[in-house]
Amino acid sequence: MRFAKIRKMDISNGPGVRVSIFFQGCPFHCKNCFNPETWDFNGGEEYTKEVKERVLDLAQFSHIKGLSILGGEPLDDKNIEGALELAKSFKERYPDKTIWLWTGNLFENKKDKEIMKYLDVLVDGPYQDEKRDPRLKWKGSSNQRVIDVKKSLEKGSVVLYED
Ligand code: SF4
Repeated sequence: MRFAKIRKMDISNGPGVRVSIFFQGCPFHCKNCFNPETWDFNGGEEYTKEVKERVLDLAQFSHIKGLSILGGEPLDDKNIEGALELAKSFKERYPDKTIWLWTGNLFENKKDKEIMKYLDVLVDGPYQDEKRDPRLKWKGSSNQRVIDVKKSLEKGSVVLYED
């Protein structure tokens, strides 16, 4: 699998200062996607064990509040194993830091995936340009949802994340 980029101090994707990784490859091709260079599954750079360790090491500082996983599509079949391994290792090493993940899929279709056990927040749904609203926090269009994963799994239905 491949990745597009890593940000060592990201203040736009989730609360606080975070480390973020953008996985490479997305099948959705949403109109006016903010990141079309991540669509090609053969683009970007190879995601290796060293890359994973680099991401984990970047999060060691106390000002880093968590990890944000974006794309591309991290929950695509080609990316989900790598995303799972990263999320699992991150939570083992930093149990008090949060993991946020952005997907074009819906929570209902992915809730049984193992990775959900390690996520705090899932921002789900494809970007829909006709529902674009720049005032929205952490999402681009109003159809998308900022979901509290732990509460949603407990309840068995979507519970939205509250600041
Ligand atoms: S799901 Fe995200 S990365 Fe994929 S095309 Fe839509 S906006 Fe772009």
